[in-house]
Amino acid sequence: MNLVEQWIRPEVRAINAYHVADASGLVKLDAMENPYTWPEVLREEWTRLIRDADVNRYPDPHARQLTQQLRSVMQIPESAGVLLGNGSDEIIQMLALALGGEGRTLLSVEPGFAMYRMIAAFSGLNYVGVELKTADFSLDMEALLEAIDEHQPALLFLAYPNNPTGNLFAVSDVERIIAASPGLVVIDEAYAPFTDASFISRIGEFDNMVVMRTLSKMGLAGLRLGLLAGPEEWLSEIDKTRLPYNINVLTQLSASFALSHISVFEQQTAQIREARSQLYKELREMAGITPFQSEANFILVRTAEGEALSIFEGLKQHGILIKNLHGGHPLLNDCLRITVGTEVENRALVKALKMLLPGTIFQAET
Ligand SMILES: *Cc1c(COP(=O)(O)O)cnc(C)c1O
Repeated sequence: MNLVEQWIRPEVRAINAYHVADASGLVKLDAMENPYTWPEVLREEWTRLIRDADVNRYPDPHARQLTQQLRSVMQIPESAGVLLGNGSDEIIQMLALALGGEGRTLLSVEPGFAMYRMIAAFSGLNYVGVELKTADFSLDMEALLEAIDEHQPALLFLAYPNNPTGNLFAVSDVERIIAASPGLVVIDEAYAPFTDASFISRIGEFDNMVVMRTLSKMGLAGLRLGLLAGPEEWLSEIDKTRLPYNINVLTQLSASFALSHISVFEQQTAQIREARSQLYKELREMAGITPFQSEANFILVRTAEGEALSIFEGLKQHGILIKNLHGGHPLLNDCLRITVGTEVENRALVKALKMLLPGTIFQAET
């Protein structure tokens, strides 16, 4: 297929397509989803709403009602602008379109969220990934400030908490990065439902900081809805790269309905936070595995050298799918990422791990 080679841009051909593992029949602890579904009464009410949706009409292009609810639920400052995306992935793409261009740089940290690098690559931005510190995945300020100075990034992404490491960065470090950055700094708060830390109330304090959120990790991954909040001057320009009607009728209706029952989701995410502490404690007691503290709905663990793949495969044999991160980045050698599930799922995981990690059964039961 010479035509393909001739015409598909080399930077696109060089990318490995985003891989999503087949989870059929498995307990899904690989993708940071909320494991709980909706109570039956909500489902009834929701389906009645959907039944009356007019899908022959285009959706509200500005999703006004939904935006209003999001502002209120997420306590977005009155003066801030808000823009919605078909998942926050789409917002990363809008940002790349609005701030990208020949010779411009997108900077982030490694290991970090894979989409920053991918979207930079296919939108023609130069990507610079600065390594986190080996010991605790904190920001390497010296390296970062040097890279900012050298590359003058148009865009700088920090996931707060970070994926796949689960930690928060020091607030004072993030503030220094915002101050040192010539371009726009995006604080990606995808895991906001699982931490008390946030920069959302500080929108407007800096002239180059915006905050990105998503409803995916809270429990609406299937609806695809993310948002960007920040100074109106930035938002109104970035909004020009948004395709009209990007938030469809069913998503607007369903997300709006869900947000009017936000307590259901708050209860679920609180339960996940509880389960996270419990799971962390149990993982810490196992020999041959070291969990890292997490402020998100997943826990990163390091196995003994060379054991990640066999534990990953072993768990699959037990019907549990997690994420093997070994090979993705040198700092993630022997690492696995486990999404926190329901109490029942977590118990199954712990039980299977104990069988796979020789020596722990006796230790754990004394
Ligand atoms: C999951 C995730 C996203 C993407 O969320 P969607 O809204 O589902 O596209 C963005 N950033 C980080 C850090 C994530 O982990």
